[in-house]
Order: sequence, then structure tokens, then C-alpha cells
Amino acid sequence: MTGIKRVGVVGCGLMGSGIAQVAAVAGFDTVVRDVSQPLLDRGRAGILKSLGRMVDKGTITSDARDASLARLRFVTELTELKDRDIIVEAVTEDLDLKNGIWRELDRACPPETMFASNTSSLTIGSMAGATLRPDRFVGLHFFNPVPMMPLVEVIRTETTSEETFERAYSFARALGKEPVAATDSPGFIVNLLLVPFLLDAARARERGTASTADIDRAMQLGCGHPMGPLSLMDYIGLDTVVRIADIMVEAYGEDRYDAPALLRRMVTAGHHGRKTGKGFYDYSADPPVPADPPVPTPSMSEKA
Ligand code: NAD
Repeated sequence: MTGIKRVGVVGCGLMGSGIAQVAAVAGFDTVVRDVSQPLLDRGRAGILKSLGRMVDKGTITSDARDASLARLRFVTELTELKDRDIIVEAVTEDLDLKNGIWRELDRACPPETMFASNTSSLTIGSMAGATLRPDRFVGLHFFNPVPMMPLVEVIRTETTSEETFERAYSFARALGKEPVAATDSPGFIVNLLLVPFLLDAARARERGTASTADIDRAMQLGCGHPMGPLSLMDYIGLDTVVRIADIMVEAYGEDRYDAPALLRRMVTAGHHGRKTGKGFYDYSADPPVPADPPVPTPSMSEKA
């Protein structure tokens, strides 16, 4: 028994909207917060689309969809999360931003509220330490797209209590997910191994090793990956990949976590992948077509 009935989610982007959806479908009374109504509307539209697909596939009934939507509330005020049993944070990967939110929530919520971050690359301890409840603070790292991906990494810090860890682990199961336990080091299990691979794929593209489509096809057909690495980065969000890489290169001091100039230029140009309509692929076409970003000449690399 987790004792969790009311769920709060901070951030209604790619991950937050997915986490809110999964919580509502699993029967939890769910409130999700973002900073503006248009962002909430965008998140809600994504949830409606995803639930619609689930109804079409017969994964849930239309009654279950309607009941899930009735359990879901969208708010702009952080303090509306103060009566939640657990709050899962999924805002932009930025420690100062996250800790500002945690401090505010720490003041607003009763001591028993459990806090969980969905960070990809920051340590959970660096957030738990900003609150007065480091024993009730865990990592719950979901995968994108949240409604489809079964895994949740459950991260305990030096200070997470056994009870908190067990409740978080059971909560992940109650969401219909498969939890694995990880210790609190940047990238946990999956991103520690995945991020260098993704960055290497971008480096291969940058060097002109092969075209975007062929790099992806090679890893799908040669290694059995369900999705090629360049497509996967578009899915994650290139801005998020660069933020994660920057945090990991600082944490580990290893070049393999260093984001190549090509990725940085794409982010600067506003090409963040699927969510902005363009990244390694152009999503205005159906199916998406390779956008084949220009491979830099040596002089372009030097300037980057
Ligand atoms: P995103 O850019 O899609 O969404 C972030 C959202 O946070 C935006 O809607 C933004 O408006 C909102 N936000 C910013 N400040 C806020 C505040 N003060 N209060 C409420 N909302 C605020 O990013 P994302 O991909 O959903 O990533 C969110 C977190 O999840 C990051 O920590 C990221 O590392 C992690 N994560 C991402 C993925 C992925 O594949 N994209 C996978 C696992 C974990």
C-alpha cells in the first residue's frame, strides 16, 4: 500500500503531460501545473490525442478515457498542489529552476507529502538538499513517451528513507510501470549508457559518416533498435539532450558526454526535434523526412 491517492505533477511538457496522463488513467486524482494556460492547453491536447489512440487500439474504453480526463486538473498556481500526497516534478532540466520550485513546494506542502523528480541527469541529492524533507525525496525517472514506455528508474539518495523508497517503488507499479532501483549518480542507469551513444550518432552525422536516414536504419536493422538514435534524439528533444550532456560532462569530466557543435547549432536555430516540428527530421511531412542538417566545414566547426 502506497497511501497515495492525490498526485501532483509540475511541468506539462513532453514528460509532465505523459506522467499526468498515466496517473489519471491509473485512477489517481491528478493536478498538473505549468506556467501558462497555452502551455497547459498544449499538454492537454497531447493527452487527448494519446488517449484517443488508446481508445482506437482498444487499450482503454471511451468510458475509461472520460473517467481519466475527469480525474485530471490543469492549473497555473503552484500552491494548488499543496494537498497532494506525492508531487512529481518534470520541468526543464535546470537545477536552479527545479530547486526554486522545490523550496516553494516545501513551504506550501505538509511534511508528509513525498517529492519526486523526473530529472534525467541531475542528482536527486542536489534537489533533496534544498528542502527540509530529504528523507521523503526520491527520483522517479520515466521514459518518453510515458504512456508507452514500461520502465521507471526509482532513485534513492543517501538520505531517502526506506519507507519513501518503497512507497515510490510501489507507486511506479501502481502506475502500471516496471520499476528498477538505481543509486543517485548523474544519468542513473539508462542515460549513463544511452547519452554517449546518442552523442556519438550526432558526431557520426557531423562527420558525414552517413546520411541521417542511413545512420538510423543501420542501428535499427543492424542492432535491432526499435528507433534509430537520431530519431530518438528528436523524440527526447535536442534542447533536452544538450542540457543533459552539459550536466553529465561536468559531472564525469569525460569527452564522450560533450555535445557536438552540430547539435548546439540545431538547438540555437530552434530545431529541437518533434516538439518544434524540425530536428534531424522534418515533421511537417507525413511520414517525417530527413532534414539533413548541413554538415559543418572545418571553418564552421572552429566558429562553433
Ligand atoms: P519540455 O521542455 O517538454 O517540458 C518542460 C516543461 O516545464 C515546459 O512545459 C515548461 O513550460 C515547464 N516549466 C518550466 N518552468 C516551470 C515552472 N516553474 N513550473 C511549472 N512548469 C514549468 O521538457 P521534458 O522533455 O518534458 O523534460 C522535463 C524533465 O524530464 C527534464 O528534467 C528532463 O530531463 C526529464 N526527462 C526528459 C525525457 C525526454 O525524453 N524528453 C525523458 C526522461 C526525463
